[in-house]
Amino acid sequence: MVDEILPYPCKCGGVLKRSKTSVEFFGIDFGIKSCEVCAKCGSEYLDDETVEEIEMELKKRKIFGLEKEV
Ligand SMILES: [Zn+2]
Repeated sequence: MVDEILPYPCKCGGVLKRSKTSVEFFGIDFGIKSCEVCAKCGSEYLDDETVEEIEMELKKRKIFGLEKEV
């Protein structure tokens, strides 16, 4: 896989590359998602779409989690 260099830089001024990362939040595995990685500081930025998906899933799990505990 060839890294795609993005036309805009990281906050630190480093070059951002499109990459894939395995995403996990609060023990929930979201699988491999596309992200932007800074070649300089190593920051990873998830796509807006992915962030939305994670937020929705967390909200959902929270509701289910509460129901399960009762
Ligand atoms: Zn950076």
